[in-house]
Amino acid sequence: MATSVQPPAGDAVPPAGAKGAPAFDPAVLRRDFPILQRTVHGRPLAYLDSAATSQKPAAVIDALAAFYRESNANVHRGIHTLAEEATAAYEGARARTAAFLGACEDEIVFTRGTTEALNMVAWGWAFHHLQPGDTILVTLMEHHSNLVPWQQVAARGGFQLRAVPLTPDGRLDTEAFTRLLEAHRPRVVALAHMSNVLGTINPVPELARQARAAGAVVVVDGAQSVPHLPVDVGSLGADFLAFSAHKMLGPTGLGVLYGRRERLAEMEPLLGGGGMIRRVEVDRSTWADPPQRFEAGTPPIAEAAAFTAALDYLQRLGLEAVAAHERELVRYAWERLQQVPGLVLYGPGPEHRGGVLSFTLEGVHPHDLAQVLDGEGVAIRAGHHCTQPLHRHLGVVATARASFYIYNDRDDVDRLVDGIEKARRLLAGS
Ligand code: PMP
Repeated sequence: MATSVQPPAGDAVPPAGAKGAPAFDPAVLRRDFPILQRTVHGRPLAYLDSAATSQKPAAVIDALAAFYRESNANVHRGIHTLAEEATAAYEGARARTAAFLGACEDEIVFTRGTTEALNMVAWGWAFHHLQPGDTILVTLMEHHSNLVPWQQVAARGGFQLRAVPLTPDGRLDTEAFTRLLEAHRPRVVALAHMSNVLGTINPVPELARQARAAGAVVVVDGAQSVPHLPVDVGSLGADFLAFSAHKMLGPTGLGVLYGRRERLAEMEPLLGGGGMIRRVEVDRSTWADPPQRFEAGTPPIAEAAAFTAALDYLQRLGLEAVAAHERELVRYAWERLQQVPGLVLYGPGPEHRGGVLSFTLEGVHPHDLAQVLDGEGVAIRAGHHCTQPLHRHLGVVATARASFYIYNDRDDVDRLVDGIEKARRLLAGS
């Protein structure tokens, strides 16, 4: 294909796969991200909202534009050069994604995002395979997108929905998990790999092993883990894994559903239309094999081409190095934030979490806190972060959340803490 997908700036990253390569330098990486060159309210931007969406390196933006400039056409069926290039870009992204996860190409379904992927599993697999009275097991830390679809299918199919409780420090109660498995023999276990609020990294390989041994199909919401940790579907042991390109340097409008080959073969398509059929009569149709069965209509082609550039960028850094960088940053932020009077941090200590820190500040509403920080050029998020049951469990309506990625460093954390101190002085009257 003719799209020119540029690798990240050579001096910004260690050579691919270099063992023992020095930790990458966020200050150097930031040069690859045009948006991080801008100011907000006259201050350099400290972007601490990557759990909502990550920023994009020039290589990804260029790949998106290059597709439209050079290769734009619809995929598959076209017998002309541009259509062949577009198909190569789209199917190349599928192959790249499969390699990234240790999966096979026909196990990768492109979706609009994590939300659509999870809905596909709920309606396309669970709705057709569960019987009334069967149990779906979720957890109390789920994002609404791994909760609401299960509620919807449970209501329609007469299934039971149960949630695994949490330990006081915000980890999954694994003993309760085992008890619930034994007591209810759930047909589906749906859980987040990493919480978007608590930062908790759940021990999915062990939980999936137990759940599958108990007869459950395991659905993992990887929206917060796949961008930040090495994830290999073989060692993860899940049946399904969903995540979004936009949280891992890629474009919006593209997500991934990995499904074990045998599970995808059993799954019904959620959408019907062009591209997903084998044969169509006026009154009935048969479906194409996976993954095409689940990709009705014109797919996000340019987005897939750009996602390849995002995966190249991440892989050149190495996901081990990304995870190590975030662990170090979280440890530093955890220590600094604990020193702030009146600040309550939610979730487990740094050893059990990824680069997400949610907190409240006594006497200051999280929205006001976020507004003061914005005035300092520090972007955080405030609200329930699409986890109302979790917030109810924590006993708060909203939290403030800072989340990290490859371009953040200790200076961003220092600016966060300075901004919080300022909000405390201005708003808490202390
Ligand atoms: N699950 C988790 C844990 C998330 O953090 C998010 C995004 N906030 C989602 C699911 C939904 O992702 P998307 O909006 O890209 O579908």
